Amino acid sequence: MITPLQQKRPSIKQKRQNTWQDEMRDAVSSPEELWSILNLPPDKLVAAQNACKLFPLKIPRDFISRMQIGDINDPLLRQVLPIEAEHISDPNFSLDPVGDLDNNPVSGIVHKYHGRALLIATGACGVHCRYCFRRHFPYSEQTASKKEWQAALDYLSKNTSIHEVILSGGDPLTLSDSKLSQLFLALEDISHIKTIRIHTRQIVVLPSRVSADFLKILKQSSKNIVFVMHVNHANEINDSVADAMLNLSELNVHLLNQAVLLKGVNDSPDVLVDLSHALFAVKVLPYYINVLDRVSGATHFALPLDTCKYLHTAIKARLPGYLVPKLVQDLAKKDSKTWLL
Ligand code: SF4
Repeated sequence: MITPLQQKRPSIKQKRQNTWQDEMRDAVSSPEELWSILNLPPDKLVAAQNACKLFPLKIPRDFISRMQIGDINDPLLRQVLPIEAEHISDPNFSLDPVGDLDNNPVSGIVHKYHGRALLIATGACGVHCRYCFRRHFPYSEQTASKKEWQAALDYLSKNTSIHEVILSGGDPLTLSDSKLSQLFLALEDISHIKTIRIHTRQIVVLPSRVSADFLKILKQSSKNIVFVMHVNHANEINDSVADAMLNLSELNVHLLNQAVLLKGVNDSPDVLVDLSHALFAVKVLPYYINVLDRVSGATHFALPLDTCKYLHTAIKARLPGYLVPKLVQDLAKKDSKTWLL
């Protein structure tokens, strides 16, 4: 049966291909332009310019179009807004809070957990989230760029205990379809890898990324395909994001979401309940809700652990079990994520 939402959806074939790459190039990268588009308070501009020296600004215009003009507290804006608090130095916040650099046996591979390994396919992202735990990651040294993929692929081939490869970054969906296709083909040849998991925020901030060629790559793979999206607030899911998710859901793939608990963004039961419902409406299941990784420059997003547990308990009381994400924390030197609730 065709639902009204499906009837409205434009066919992927009708869209011009690769517009997502134009959109990515056209992302807003200057605080002055952001201030002008959203009519933000002029007295906060200098602080933003200074914070951009720590981590550059990058926001696709499509994502900006989902924000409220004039509202500096908009929950989408807050995630990408450079502010003075990024200069706060706190000994509990570090450059590598989850210990990635202690677990990279070859360039481009992070192998922390049994049975799965992470391939840092690119250092690029379609958006720069100010709370990102990899905001200080030395991508230029650690990315398995296309010419270096071989070392990473050799590592995956030799380690028969690895059944799942997690394409991460940066955001793996900033790679072109032709590069992704080559990567998928190389992984296809490694028989002990059964699952390719894609960690991405690109589809949420640039839904045009779900191109016809990308869908074809997914269709041709014999592996299990799992997407772990990164949506923190229901307002991020506009009609284009819904179309993209629904197009993916028609393939034999699994769509999951991980969110991060962020002060001023989603630290209320109502917001989190709305998020779970909004995800389910586009065929995505809530998987994890992460306690913030304590990365330098992101102190202003941190919530006390007790508040995180309170929020989780509150949403559990209001949602069916399948819409309640696990509350987790990524701690260095652990053999898995730590499940808190
Ligand atoms: S998209 Fe992901 S990896 Fe990129 S800045 Fe945001 S949180 Fe970090």
